[in-house]
Amino acid sequence: MILILKPNTDLASDEYRLLVRYLRTFGNVRHEVRHVQGDGQRLTEIYLIGDTKPLSKEFMRSLPCVQRVVRVQEAYRYLGRHGDETLQHGFDYNGVTFDQDCLHVFAGLCAVDSRINVERMMRALQEYGLECTRMGAYKPRTNPYSFQGHGARCLPYVFELAGKYGIRVIAMEVTHESHIEEINDALEVTGHPTGVMLQIGTRNTQNFELLKAAGRQMKHPVLLKRGFGITLNESLNAAEYLASEGNRNVVFALRGMKTNMGDPHRNFVDFSHVPVVHRLTRMPVCVDPSHSVGSRHRSPDGLLDVMHVTAQGIIAGANLVLVDFHPRPAQALVDGPQALLIEELPLFLEDVAIAREAYLKRIALARARRPNAPIPA
Ligand code: PEP
Ligand code: MN
Repeated sequence: MILILKPNTDLASDEYRLLVRYLRTFGNVRHEVRHVQGDGQRLTEIYLIGDTKPLSKEFMRSLPCVQRVVRVQEAYRYLGRHGDETLQHGFDYNGVTFDQDCLHVFAGLCAVDSRINVERMMRALQEYGLECTRMGAYKPRTNPYSFQGHGARCLPYVFELAGKYGIRVIAMEVTHESHIEEINDALEVTGHPTGVMLQIGTRNTQNFELLKAAGRQMKHPVLLKRGFGITLNESLNAAEYLASEGNRNVVFALRGMKTNMGDPHRNFVDFSHVPVVHRLTRMPVCVDPSHSVGSRHRSPDGLLDVMHVTAQGIIAGANLVLVDFHPRPAQALVDGPQALLIEELPLFLEDVAIAREAYLKRIALARARRPNAPIPA
């Protein structure tokens, strides 16, 4: 059960103290308080954990400070929507807001190969006003003899260059708990010039020990990729692992599913699930067109398949786009054939803006036709 308190409830007030004192009298139900900073107001949610069946919604609603009561379904306890469209969602990280209404483009290198290419990439991002990027230092590869990423060695220059070019958030995959420590050490040494969103890749979606480690730390948000061969429910439960360990700043990424029916794309594009994840959970949803499509194939209309599926994700409401670019794809040590060129960045961003505008028009139309519907948080 979640108690949603009246906006800006004063935690020093007698009313609030009375509420907390009362909640402490529930022997087999503990409570956790969570604050969400919304537009101009601070919201407080209290999660009641344990056997809450005997507690009536009406009674809990009558307690001091309580505005609303939501009965939580078992699935996705922390991240779920529980059938309530107005529950708060999202978080701020290093000055950037991530929620189900935002749109951020994380264009960057699949794998860091050289300082010079990182700098070329980041300079272009700054030129086009982007504050987020993707940079892979630890690469999980199918073939053990393939390049595995530069690892901790490249982190200092990646972070310094991010600071130089105003990059606030870098999505970076980790495949082992020790990578989180290495990232923290490198951020410390370089004076925290940027932020890192820890990425857990599709091969590790159900690596429960890694999920628990990323969930225990609260410094960085986590971007979890959907498992490419498991159900959506299984992947959402993997996200819930992160949240159950304490870290609720989780982004869920769709990146295509492994099946020959997706041919000739590398994976079967699953971006029609963006609104489904929005409906079931409060997570911002990312789409990864590069790993879904896996090539630079172009249709007769002139658009690359990567751009077509990006637009499909955005028009369905995606909040982040993780996309591979490379200044010299022939030099790329990982996934060069699917990378877009830096010269294509302005075109890509214009295309993104068209799709976003269409999405915003679609939701405005739907809201106008349902005037009494609750306004989403
Ligand atoms: C990646 O984003 O570089 C990556 C390896 O993605 P995935 O885990 O989706 O294959
Ligand atoms: Mn890749």
